[in-house]
Amino acid sequence: TKTINLKNRPAGKPDLKDFDFTTSEISELQEGEVLLNSKYVSVDPYLRGRMSDAPSYIPPFELNKPIVSGIIAEVVESKNSNFSKGDHVSGMLEWKETQTAKGDGLLKVDPDKASLSAYLGILGMTGLTAYLGLTEIGKPKKGETLLVSGAAGAVGSVVGQIGKILGLRVVGIAGTDEKVELLKSKFGFDEGINYNTTKNMSEAIAKACPDGVDVYFDNVGGDISEAVLFNINKFSRTINCGAISVYNNTELPKSISVQPFLVKKSSSMQGFVVFDYADKHPAGIKQLTEWLNQDKLSYSETIVEGFENIPQAFLDLFDGKNKGKMVVKL
Ligand code: NDP
Repeated sequence: TKTINLKNRPAGKPDLKDFDFTTSEISELQEGEVLLNSKYVSVDPYLRGRMSDAPSYIPPFELNKPIVSGIIAEVVESKNSNFSKGDHVSGMLEWKETQTAKGDGLLKVDPDKASLSAYLGILGMTGLTAYLGLTEIGKPKKGETLLVSGAAGAVGSVVGQIGKILGLRVVGIAGTDEKVELLKSKFGFDEGINYNTTKNMSEAIAKACPDGVDVYFDNVGGDISEAVLFNINKFSRTINCGAISVYNNTELPKSISVQPFLVKKSSSMQGFVVFDYADKHPAGIKQLTEWLNQDKLSYSETIVEGFENIPQAFLDLFDGKNKGKMVVKL
């Protein structure tokens, strides 16, 4: 079966040359296993971290072994009583067209309740990241101002909408005018800032957030997040969810020290990894499903077609080619 392996550990920005297209044998189906055909493959910025061997919260990918990410697959044969032929499942699976997998770790998903790809986004890992990061760490209160970076992406677009559901004023930062427009027209953000065309981000944030920033949901880190520091309010909370602007850096960026800003404002900053909140995932999915069914949440997806385009779709995340969740349809 067609397989994509990690060929090199990228230095700096990853490249198509870091991936290897091969074919591999499909192992014989054992008791307790299912045979799966991949349908939708999730590409995510955090995979960049696993391509390097620096210690992190999940182990690095091994060289010359398949890359693993969230995948929605169809069961084509089953030796596991929990799954039948024709079922759809989501799981952390290998970048292969067909593979065998143990039943544990697979979750059945219902194509009649939502589109299959939605289980990789709004009803999957990125939806949970938005909901749990914002509520558990951000502790948002009605009337406060929420600022979201990476706002037009999979996580950010959901964060902003949840902020609106909870009664906050919501401002988003994104990389194109088209995305800023989408934030306001589709996702209900009150204001948007295009960081690529804005010379003075700190001033632009002050203008868009006249009452200051109470909750900052940070998906990008770097210079954008520094500019936010000049605008944080007393007792504000920052959710350090991601730092895509520095994932490809070969040296740690020289940053201003955040400490004086936090001290002056009794402000807090906390890292957040969605996998550390596994006990809250079922309740989170329930809430997201409810809001989706009530049309309180909507979502965008950028769907790329074809197994061979998985690596390029991943690379395109770093050039902002996606609106909402980037997925590859096989
Ligand atoms: P997105 O859908 O947001 O895709 C990435 C987006 O990042 C791009 O569309 C682009 O939008 C933006 N971007 C790329 N490069 C830069 C840059 N140099 N500066 C600013 N923005 C940039 O991805 P996700 O929603 O999946 O992930 C968003 C963040 O959340 C990532 O940092 C990711 O690592 C993190 N994350 C963390 C999790 C956790 O548990 N902590 C779980 C899931 C995600 P634009 O056009 O606006 O530049």
